[in-house]
Amino acid sequence: MRRIQRAALPKVAQNYLSKRQVAANDKHKNGVLNIERDWKSARQTKPLKAVVATLQTMMGPRQRCMYCLDSHGADIEHFRPKAVYPKRMYEWPNLLLCCTECGRFKGNKFPMSGKQALLIDPTREDPWKYLDFDPVTGNISARFDLQLNDWSAKGMATVDVLKLDRREALSAGYLKTLRHLSDIVERALLGGAVAIAVPVLMTELKNVDDHGLLGWCLSDRGQTIYPFNDLHQRHPGVWRQCRRTI
Ligand SMILES: [Zn+2]
Repeated sequence: MRRIQRAALPKVAQNYLSKRQVAANDKHKNGVLNIERDWKSARQTKPLKAVVATLQTMMGPRQRCMYCLDSHGADIEHFRPKAVYPKRMYEWPNLLLCCTECGRFKGNKFPMSGKQALLIDPTREDPWKYLDFDPVTGNISARFDLQLNDWSAKGMATVDVLKLDRREALSAGYLKTLRHLSDIVERALLGGAVAIAVPVLMTELKNVDDHGLLGWCLSDRGQTIYPFNDLHQRHPGVWRQCRRTI
């Protein structure tokens, strides 16, 4: 997972969503809202195609799923499920791009702790605040929060809902990306600090970072494995500059 910047919608699409939400709210108030039918009829319109196109643009040329970053983002996902939160079904900040598998695992699940959502929204926050990565198995797990002296509840719920710790193809994809990132840093280290041009290095790293692992590799946890530990110890200045431009 990685932090994703939400783009602005084209005005026509935004206006359409707003109108559909007002109409859906009215129907809901009168007890006549058929959520699935309403969404299906909207989904086939041009403005919703613009919504999909905007979500895909946010994910770059590979158009990956915003949750797992491993598979193609096939459809619009309601972060807060429309079946439970119909008042959010046409709200742009509630819409994500999601693969078939993540969509199936998530379904209408939306764990809460009091008023706090326990699922990570990658368009609002940095997932690595709550998640950890195992460089041996390639699995994603909850992060151990040293301040709380406990595992991140948000991380645990997200891993559990999306089954991020038991998807073989996903783990293999993350490990492959880790290898690519490691190769680039290893090559840069061979040249020494003087030869490391941070903007060039970061561009190279970002180009291969299909799974958003750079945020983990350049974190305190990434510092524990080679070659990121070498980069941190031998070239702390370069490390800091890289972190600033993630
Ligand atoms: Zn996915």
